[in-house]
Amino acid sequence: MADRTFYNEILTEHNIRPEFKHDLPDADIVLEGVNPSCGDDIWLKLKVDGDVITDGAFVGDGCAISQASADIMLGMIIGKTKDEALRLGNLFLRMIKGEASDEEIDELEEAGALKDISHMPARVKCAVLGWHTLLAVSYTHLTLPTSDPV
Ligand code: ZN
Repeated sequence: MADRTFYNEILTEHNIRPEFKHDLPDADIVLEGVNPSCGDDIWLKLKVDGDVITDGAFVGDGCAISQASADIMLGMIIGKTKDEALRLGNLFLRMIKGEASDEEIDELEEAGALKDISHMPARVKCAVLGWHTLLAVSYTHLTLPTSDPV
């Protein structure tokens, strides 16, 4: 049970003091993520330089789990290449489905705090909202030759 307390503390900390919940006016990529079943609604904003995500933030409203998950995610992907961020995103989704090994969950660092969500189906969409939005950004972005407004 010590683990569970530790994980709750991680989630609480990211809710009280989200590091990445702020506007990012010069973001290169902006995409909305909505989870109607809970009322979570976030805007994910990323700055990219070539293949590297150089900065990121999110704004919007939602439950504690959706907000903490998005904050943790941004802490993990900033400074990484898009491919690496995608890999982490897919790993996170596998963890939520209960398919990731302990080693893989370790690799997810603080995001591993959300692994018990796999036992709470009603909250799964909250936990994956930020990551789904990230994956959608990546796929959308891949189809565009440039992120500059036309
Ligand atoms: Zn939610």
